[in-house]
Amino acid sequence: MPGTELYGAEERQEINDVLETGMFFRYNHDAQRNNIWKAREFEAEVCKLVGAKYAHAVSSGSTAVQCALAAAGIGAGDEVIVPPFTYIATVEAVLIAGAIPVFAEVDETLCLSAEGIRKALTPNTKAICLVHMCGQMADMDSIMEVVKEHNLILVEDAGQAMAASYKGVSTGLWGVAGAYSYDFFKIATAAEGGVMVTNDERIYKLADSYSDHGHDHVGNNRGMEQHPVIGFNFRISELHAAIGKVQTQRVPYVREKNNEYKKYLMEKLGQVPGVSFATIPDPSGDSATFLNLLLPDTETAGKVVAELNAAGVGGFNYWYTNMYHFINQWDHLKEMRTAARLGVEKFGAPQDYANLDIPKSQEVIGRLISFGIRVTWTYAEIDTLIEKVSAAVQKVQQVEA
Ligand SMILES: *Cc1c(COP(=O)(O)O)cnc(C)c1O
Repeated sequence: MPGTELYGAEERQEINDVLETGMFFRYNHDAQRNNIWKAREFEAEVCKLVGAKYAHAVSSGSTAVQCALAAAGIGAGDEVIVPPFTYIATVEAVLIAGAIPVFAEVDETLCLSAEGIRKALTPNTKAICLVHMCGQMADMDSIMEVVKEHNLILVEDAGQAMAASYKGVSTGLWGVAGAYSYDFFKIATAAEGGVMVTNDERIYKLADSYSDHGHDHVGNNRGMEQHPVIGFNFRISELHAAIGKVQTQRVPYVREKNNEYKKYLMEKLGQVPGVSFATIPDPSGDSATFLNLLLPDTETAGKVVAELNAAGVGGFNYWYTNMYHFINQWDHLKEMRTAARLGVEKFGAPQDYANLDIPKSQEVIGRLISFGIRVTWTYAEIDTLIEKVSAAVQKVQQVEA
């Protein structure tokens, strides 16, 4: 799955270009940089890959979500619907914006469902921060219906699903703005980094300024120009962008291999009684970074994971394992343990985070076992995985029967 599996000479060459000039800053210094603009080239590669009009590279996927929320005008006191199954960065970004996360149910797509969103709406709902989980995509037709019906702002955290799409439109491009992560574990990495994408020039310009203390970057004369908004520093360095550029070029190959292996795994493991899979709303748009198994119930899934771990196989269940991707593990959030005071403490939330009523999410995430798909696998390794998973599932169910 991770881009780091395919790290090689091209990355070293791109990094070396930057080391030769010593120009690590993405703006200005034209004379010294020898016409090397890695951040710009990285952004152009992302636009090409996902079909976005604008891409803006920043320091992380988390700050890309922050930029997307800010540029979309989401701030103090706004209710934002989020899933309870995501990397916690999504929820943190909403909290740091001064906004109020409101948790809605996910379903077998592992993403927010339209039904879940409808139930979580209040008169104060302003936006949805939709997360495309485990390399797959949400069911966009039904979600766009709710978005339009209730005139909501849609922001997408596609941190785990860059290069995934639904009916030909990339994740991240369905709403006002979207975010991708380029951390060490994603389909492509910049060592650390993230990218915000949008098709709206106004949103792009806002994010561009917001991520660099409000500078408008007009005329490549940073520092002397206008400052349309107050911002902060979420800049990416030229070194990180250099890696991100090559890694983005590798994505079509990685995605193709991932899909080939995932299809094979699903075909074989689909024959094992008790095994089904997370719903993929558009299988042709899967980035296929994860194989997502659903077992009959949480208890069985937990036992199967224990068997797999004993057999040295790296599948994990987010509900049992402290993977930090599910609300059950977010005690600091439930108890609102914060460093600085957050907007939610002042404005209040329409739900009690410590006692959320989310039976569907509990049931689905409890049954889920995910496997990272590795682009460097051989078929012999995949067959061994299939054997071990089948054996574990069968053993646990025989004991139960
Ligand atoms: C990885 C991830 C992030 C955070 O990205 P970083 O680059 O690590 O900051 C945000 N959201 C989701 C869904 C992620 O998987």
